[in-house]
Amino acid sequence: MSNRTLSLDERLYTYLLDSSLREPEILRKLREETDCDDMSMMRIAPEQGQFMALLVRLLGAKRVLEIGTYTGYSALWMALALPQNGELIACDVSEEWTGVAQRYWAKAGVGERVHLKLGPAIDTLDALLAAGEQEEFDLVFIDADKPNYEAYFERCLELVRTGGLILVDNVFWDGTVADPDEADESTVAIRAFNKARARDSRIWLSMLPVGDGLTLAMKKGPGGF
Ligand code: SAM
Ligand code: CA
Repeated sequence: MSNRTLSLDERLYTYLLDSSLREPEILRKLREETDCDDMSMMRIAPEQGQFMALLVRLLGAKRVLEIGTYTGYSALWMALALPQNGELIACDVSEEWTGVAQRYWAKAGVGERVHLKLGPAIDTLDALLAAGEQEEFDLVFIDADKPNYEAYFERCLELVRTGGLILVDNVFWDGTVADPDEADESTVAIRAFNKARARDSRIWLSMLPVGDGLTLAMKKGPGGF
């Protein structure tokens, strides 16, 4: 027994997957196709996808925003958990990677509810704000270029409703955030982002050791509730 989070060795991780993962066939196929790509380490882990799908259901989410889509694996987990009339807006700059995503979204029958916005995500978020989409999203997943995390977060906090969730991926950045000798641009940005969230009174906060570290930030209402 332990009263601190266990690190997962190979045996325990396999046990976790064997005893809890319910990855639909279409997601397994997308994961396997993605894993042929050199950048496949960018996709989330399947147990994280299942957890995020559960959060979509828990919130009763109808509108989800994703920043950083790659081949669409995380988006597909969330889109499948949305109701028929739900919507997921997926932001990315890569036509090639999101081409794979669109093929799988269509195959999975969620093509109608996923809307891809190609272009720098800052521009897409600014356009959503200019269109009056403040407080219109139930859940946001931030997983694009790390130096822009703070800029994404500020905009997403306006776009998400009170009581809605912002999920932020890779907050451990392979453990480098805790290494004082590591000073690459992404590590420094994530470290600063994590520090700012620790004292951010606008949110309820939890940093979970899921995947490469996942922060959950729930937006408080005007009275701090
Ligand atoms: N969420 C995906 C998943 O788990 O399968 C992985 C996303 S991957 C870590 C990051 C993605 O962000 C890449 O597909 C990349 O093209 C995209 N990206 C990088 N810079 C961007 C920017 N400025 N605006 C929008 N997307 C960007
Ligand atoms: Ca990620």
